[in-house]
Amino acid sequence: MINSLTMDDYPLSLTAVVERAEQFYSGRDVVSRRPDGSIARSTLGACARRARRLADALAGLGVGDGDRVATLLWNQAEHLELYFAVPAMGAVVHTLNPRLHADELAFIVQDARDRVIVVDESLLEVFDGFRELHRFEHVIVVSHGGPVPDGMLDYETVIGGSEPMEWPVIDERRAGAMCYTSGTTGRPKGVVYSHRALVLHSLAAALPDALGVSAQDTLLPVVPMFHANAWGLPYAAALLGARLVLPGPNLDPVSVLDLISTEGVTMTAGVPTVWMAMLDALDAEPDRWDLGRLDRLIVGGAAVPRSLLEGYDRHGLTVVQAWGMTETAPLGTVSRLPVDLRESAAEDRYAFRARQGVAMPFVEIRARNEEDGFIEWDDAAMGELEVRGPWVAAGYHNGTGADSFTEDGWFRTGDIVRIDHRGSIRICDRSKDLVKSGGEWISSVDLENHLMAHPAVAEAAVIAVPDPRWGERPLAVLALRDGVTVDPEQLREHLAREFARWQIPERFEFVSTIPRTATGKFKKIALRDQFSA
Ligand code: ADP
Repeated sequence: MINSLTMDDYPLSLTAVVERAEQFYSGRDVVSRRPDGSIARSTLGACARRARRLADALAGLGVGDGDRVATLLWNQAEHLELYFAVPAMGAVVHTLNPRLHADELAFIVQDARDRVIVVDESLLEVFDGFRELHRFEHVIVVSHGGPVPDGMLDYETVIGGSEPMEWPVIDERRAGAMCYTSGTTGRPKGVVYSHRALVLHSLAAALPDALGVSAQDTLLPVVPMFHANAWGLPYAAALLGARLVLPGPNLDPVSVLDLISTEGVTMTAGVPTVWMAMLDALDAEPDRWDLGRLDRLIVGGAAVPRSLLEGYDRHGLTVVQAWGMTETAPLGTVSRLPVDLRESAAEDRYAFRARQGVAMPFVEIRARNEEDGFIEWDDAAMGELEVRGPWVAAGYHNGTGADSFTEDGWFRTGDIVRIDHRGSIRICDRSKDLVKSGGEWISSVDLENHLMAHPAVAEAAVIAVPDPRWGERPLAVLALRDGVTVDPEQLREHLAREFARWQIPERFEFVSTIPRTATGKFKKIALRDQFSA
């Protein structure tokens, strides 16, 4: 046995990331596009220094160790300040998705027991939808010139009236951030990120064969900061000194292309829907924008169609596909072309790049099905993907969703995959009953339950059908009660009470009975075959 000290037990906490941004990359830009389209300029150093004051102010408002601070913000410098301040002071930053229905947001903020919320002025209307349903002790508004409503605090005034906080020492296993993910049935589930997970994720995300982030880069996360930490880009930028360009709510193709070209963006990231629309804009006006510095587009959150890879190749731009989940912080796999395929036929290269890719270092994968147990990596057998690793969840907030974890502690993803001899996964199906539309989830089961609550409806099954713009859209198959009729418009109105507009199906198909399996479940595969066209 060796009898000596080994290495310093240095805590892998986000404090080190925030301090590094402040010490070494103070002058690096953080560019924010405001809701009115104007540009605001800050720096990593200014954000880190303001985070110290913000933390002091939050402490003054009563935020203590482990308390949750909610954000209802776009991708903007203030959001980065909260990403810095809240974990570094020992509290938990809880990012809220403003696209959810008010009832869902109310559930989420109650479940997380958020004490304070920071809201962008442009999202006050969304906030109004659920503010009565939960008691926040303080509401802080990031104003862009408008008046701050009575009873709420102004973000700048809050920061201005406080002193810079000396960061406490934070144990790396403590919670620093949290984010909710859609439940297949029932309510959303909270995923709580430890400091250690986010630090290791930032390091790994920066590796050249992952996202490849360096101080040479200018990153534009189109993926919102309320979706799994904007895939880790803000923390990776702070750790490595990359410039950050934050688009705010302006996510139409022309606005994004304008920002990429005027700010010299080298890497951007988001869901396929965004890049599909952007490709149309580029095809229409190929010479309008200077994209000379743009090196790669990271695309994930939903399957990347081959046409997207080919479309960007035509413009000399490289799309890299990644797979991940809120539960995996989120990066799980990245699809980079292996050396031995570099010279192979275009067909083979596209086939490989259209896969979801190879696991990140430290992320372990396996897949199994009921008949065969763990599947061979022969690209033929299919099974549900299971993962584990230092940035993979070990459970959900408040102990829900225990059935998503195996007895030996692996996380069950609900994605059905094939795995090839290189270990690259290909998602073939989904065991979770959800529709993913434009990168956002819609629960089939929730839609079905609500449709079946309508007096005219006997049975309802909701399936995902392919859609060229959104990836998938929900389609409702209905069997009506004898002797009654109802039209789709009435059903849409009925659903609008519980669902956000974009979650409501466009298509309703009426059948006499819905086919069922031997165990009495709807035969969704048969329905998809029938109605997908
Ligand atoms: P995110 O916020 O990153 O989209 P979610 O947890 O909401 O994460 O969604 C994760 C799910 O999205 C995965 O389980 C998978 O079904 C789907 N998904 C993510 N990336 C891809 C991809 N590249 N190809 C196909 N499906 C994907």
